[in-house]
Amino acid sequence: MSQLRFKVVEEASNRKAVTVEIPSQRPGDYYGIYVFNRKKMKEYLPPETYEALVYAIDNKESLSREIADSVADGMKRWAIDNGARHYSHWFHPLTDGTAEKHDAFIDLDGNEGVVENFAGKLLVQQEPDASSFPNGGIRNTFEARGYSAWDISSPAFILDKTLCIPTIFISYTGESLDYKTPLLRAINSVDRAGTAVAQYFDPSVKHVVSYLGWEQEYFLIDEALYSARPDLVMTGRTLMGHESAKNQQLEDHYFGAIPSRVEAFMLDLEIECHKLGIPAKTRHNEVAPNQFELAPIYEETNLANDHNLLLMSIMAEVARRHNFRVLLHEKPFAGINGSGKHNNWSLGTDTGVPLFAPGKTPKDNLQFITFVVNVMAAVHRHNGLLKASIMSATNAHRLGANEAPPAIISIFTGKQLGEILERLENSNKDELISFAGKEGLKLGVSQIPEIMVDNTDRNRTSPFAFTGNRFEFRAVGSTANCASAMIALNAAVAEQLTEFKAKVDARIADGEALEHALLEEIKVLIVQSKAIHFDGNGYSEEWKAEAALRGLDCETNVPKIFDAYLRKSSIEMFKSTGVFSEIELQARNEVKWEMYTKKIQIEARVLGDLALNHVLPVATRYQSHLVDHILKMKTLFAGERGEELVSQDLATVEKIAEYMSIIKNETALMVEARKKANRIESEREKAIAYHDTVVPSMDTIRVYIDKLELMVDNEMWPLPKYRELLFIR
Ligand code: ADP
Ligand code: MG
Repeated sequence: MSQLRFKVVEEASNRKAVTVEIPSQRPGDYYGIYVFNRKKMKEYLPPETYEALVYAIDNKESLSREIADSVADGMKRWAIDNGARHYSHWFHPLTDGTAEKHDAFIDLDGNEGVVENFAGKLLVQQEPDASSFPNGGIRNTFEARGYSAWDISSPAFILDKTLCIPTIFISYTGESLDYKTPLLRAINSVDRAGTAVAQYFDPSVKHVVSYLGWEQEYFLIDEALYSARPDLVMTGRTLMGHESAKNQQLEDHYFGAIPSRVEAFMLDLEIECHKLGIPAKTRHNEVAPNQFELAPIYEETNLANDHNLLLMSIMAEVARRHNFRVLLHEKPFAGINGSGKHNNWSLGTDTGVPLFAPGKTPKDNLQFITFVVNVMAAVHRHNGLLKASIMSATNAHRLGANEAPPAIISIFTGKQLGEILERLENSNKDELISFAGKEGLKLGVSQIPEIMVDNTDRNRTSPFAFTGNRFEFRAVGSTANCASAMIALNAAVAEQLTEFKAKVDARIADGEALEHALLEEIKVLIVQSKAIHFDGNGYSEEWKAEAALRGLDCETNVPKIFDAYLRKSSIEMFKSTGVFSEIELQARNEVKWEMYTKKIQIEARVLGDLALNHVLPVATRYQSHLVDHILKMKTLFAGERGEELVSQDLATVEKIAEYMSIIKNETALMVEARKKANRIESEREKAIAYHDTVVPSMDTIRVYIDKLELMVDNEMWPLPKYRELLFIR
């Protein structure tokens, strides 16, 4: 009956590893060949242009038209020398992924031919039609035009014979319509605020740099199996499917041997990454079957984020060469782990000092404690906002389940840092004065580097963990644009550092010594933000109750979680740091709610179709099979003996009928709930209606479909099952 299913399973299991073309050179020789980096700039630009461009990049300044023309010319020659035929502004609209519009490097030469052309004005600025991208109403209120403008801090690169120029995307009136613009603003704000504080310790500091090292988790599925699952194709996750008898309970996949087909894919992907200057470094199996991870060496946050977005798009392409599909969805399969994208984040000075790592001198340690405590205070004050920054319809499946960070933001500090904080909190005035004296912060901090390098007491249940020299924001979803989390985090920390500096300065003006003023304010922050510090089990029920008592944001309703962006404290924070205006925040929330609704809407439609067109017909067929069988048995065995022999089959027929009727009713209810929700004007209320009335029906339908999967003849079942999807050989 179910020919397709068996055919694709066979196809997938016979597949062999694809041979990867390995460049003959060493990685160092092809690393960054497709990037217009400083080396290429020097080679292709006149010396004055090169100097001016590097100066503008280093000092965050804009380029004159003349210089832009000269840069464009050099960039074009480099691109054409490397096989490019088109160019494109590459930007990050408020969707999942990136956008590009390609133009060929040609112009009519007025002589019936063409010349290869690329002017500075096309490099620096373009006007893609903004109306087809989500903008949350900004376009209607203002203007349909949108501008994309070159972000000179991120180098241009060649992808598929197209010169891609990383750009910001803004409306005619200057509102951001993308992720990059506010990310750059947030990075600048933490630079300004951080520099002012770092100068207490070293007046020669000119910049504080934000660093990001993401870890991308993903699933791989054979493409034949993928194509036979309409839910995977349309929604990126399985909307039904009974758990496989064996999944991750033997804990044999994590760090296990990588299957050869997968290893070939990884190698191919790494080579592509390296050519594009993405420093891919770590790869391993993850916890769930078919789940893997790739992590690069960390970079400056804006560049690291460009690289993550680029990685997500090249992954899809490389996977196809290996007859795989990549699933970036946070929860492609029920019952096994989902995928996240840990954001390892830190700050450092332009003089090379990491700000979240203890140092060798008391002064270094005071700086370390200053920055760490300010991060804790910012995360405490904006914990609801930080949760909103990582929340989405897809990540909602992961948060709150017993596998990933809970839907409550807290900070894990580990034992050593926890002890230092406690000691500072409990020290009296005299002790603080003595810490501030010649002997310095004698808290055992100076012994910490050795211990912390091997930071063993990692707490996997914490959504935001201190891991020795950085914080690891683990709640970020695998499909997410990291910018969302990085904008909220860097901006919140910038606000906090600015406030901290004002308070310390006031104490100094009152005659207090710097060290003492710092320690006093640090103590205030430790006490104030105590509620955010939690080293226990984040998955436990007790923590949920305790977190509520501590006043942390415990909202689990996704559309309502987004409200945090429009709280007074968030609006003020984003305004004071120059990251978002109130209009931008409102517009973005409209987009978030709309996206939430659309994602659930698509899933509900696909599930409805699958239930009605795939599952119910097959269940009915199997049921009539059984009925035929029962009737025949009864003619063979008359009377009580007959009744006895068919009793179990009769019960099965009845159960199938019962489940089918639940599925039919619930599908009808779901369609009705959708219709009703669709009539709601407000995007927020509509999203809430989808959350409250559509999602529960989907969950019920799934439960009964999964029960039928176990009852219906295996030969008839139309969709590849979990046990067939999940084990690449
Ligand atoms: P884990 O054990 O947490 O999985 P990985 O080695 O897989 O660790 O990934 C850690 C990530 O953190 C890498 O991308 C690494 O470059 C990054 N990282 C290390 N130190 C820092 C730092 N100081 N700031 C930001 N990211 C960092
Ligand atoms: Mg990690």
